[in-house]
Amino acid sequence: MRFIAKYRHIITVVIAVFCFAGLFFAGKRMKELKNPDVNADTFSGTAMGTAVRKTIYAENRTKSEQVDAVIDDCLEETEKQISVRLSDSVVAKCNRNYAVDGIYEMPLDLLEYVEKELEIFRETEGAFSPCIRPIADLWGIEDGNDTVPEEKTIEEMLKVCDASNIEVEDGGIIFHEDDMAIDFGAVGKGIAGDRIVSELQKTDIQGAVVSVGGSIAVYGNKGDGRPWHIGIQDPRGQTGEVFGVIDIEGNKMISTSGDYEKYFEADGKRYHHIFDPTTGYPADNGLISVTIVSDNGFLSDALSTACFVLGLEKGMAYAEEKNVDAVFVTSQKEVYVTGGMKKAFRIQSDQYHVKK
Ligand code: ADP
Ligand code: MG
Repeated sequence: MRFIAKYRHIITVVIAVFCFAGLFFAGKRMKELKNPDVNADTFSGTAMGTAVRKTIYAENRTKSEQVDAVIDDCLEETEKQISVRLSDSVVAKCNRNYAVDGIYEMPLDLLEYVEKELEIFRETEGAFSPCIRPIADLWGIEDGNDTVPEEKTIEEMLKVCDASNIEVEDGGIIFHEDDMAIDFGAVGKGIAGDRIVSELQKTDIQGAVVSVGGSIAVYGNKGDGRPWHIGIQDPRGQTGEVFGVIDIEGNKMISTSGDYEKYFEADGKRYHHIFDPTTGYPADNGLISVTIVSDNGFLSDALSTACFVLGLEKGMAYAEEKNVDAVFVTSQKEVYVTGGMKKAFRIQSDQYHVKK
C-alpha cells in the first residue's frame, strides 16, 4: 500500500497514457472502418431487358449521380451493339444480312468475344453455343410462350445452333448455314459489367456494386475496409431471397444462371431458358443454379451458363480448369463449392446444405 501511495502520481500518469493510447488507436480504427467522407447512393432501373441496381460509394450525391449516368451510357451502348431485340443493333443486322460462306464484317471488340465464345464451345464439347438463338426463339420462353415445340422442329434446328458451322476470320464471321443467328444472351451482362468496371476505374469513387440481372460487378470498397457480402438468389425462393452469401474482396464479377429466371411448367415439368445445344431442350441434369466468381465479367457470365449445361461433375471440373470459383446447387438443394470458395461462401438458409 505504501508503494502505491509513494508512486501514485507516476501510476496515474502511466494509466492515463495507456488510456489515451487506447482511445487514440480505437479512434483510428473506427475511422478506418467507417469513413465519414464516403456516402452510399442506390439507383434502380432496367436495361438489357432486366433489372439494374447500382450502389455507389462516393464523396457526395452529385458524384454518385455522375457515375450513375456513366453506367447507364455503358449499358445502353452495349445493348445497342449486341441486343437481338433492337433491330438496329450490330448483332441483329448481322443475323439478318449475312450471306452463307461469305465474311460478315464485325467490329473487332465483338469479334474477339465471338472467338472467346467459340473457345468455350470447343472446350465444353458443345454445351455452350454462341448461336443458340434459333432454338431460344423456337421455344420463345423469354416472350412468354408456354408450350413445348414439336420434337421434329427442335431436331431440325440443331444444325443451325451448332457453332462448328461458324468461323471467325479476316475481320468477320463466316456462317456456313442459312438461318443461323449469333446470340450474346449468355454473356452480354458480363460484358457490360467489364465495361462498367473499366469506366469506374477512370473515376475517383471509393466503390460500387452494380447488378444487371444475374450478373454483379463489385468494384473497390465501401470505405470501411471490409469485404463485400454478396447474396446469391435462392433458386426456389422469392426474388431477392438469398440462400447463401459470398465474401468478396476487391474487384470481382459474380454471375448466376438458373432455371428460375424465365420458365414455364407443363405436365409437371419445368422448361427454362438455358438450352442444351446438343438436344435442343432446356438443360435437364439436376442443377437448378450455378454461380461463378471471376476477375472477368465475360468469363463469369459465359461459364455460369456453360457449367449449368455441363452439369455438376463436368461443370465443377471445367470451373476448376478455368481457374474460377463456383457454387453449384442441385434440385435436392445440395450445394457444392470449388476449393477457392470454401472459406468465402456461407449458407444462409436451413433448406440448403453444403456437400463436401
Ligand atoms: P440470364 O440471361 O438469365 O442471366 P444466362 O447468363 O445463363 O442467364 O443466359 C441465358 C441466355 O443465354 C438465354 O436467354 C439464351 O439467350 C442464351 N443461352 C441459352 N442456352 C445457351 C447455351 N447453351 N449456350 C450459350 N447461350 C445460351
Ligand atoms: Mg451467363
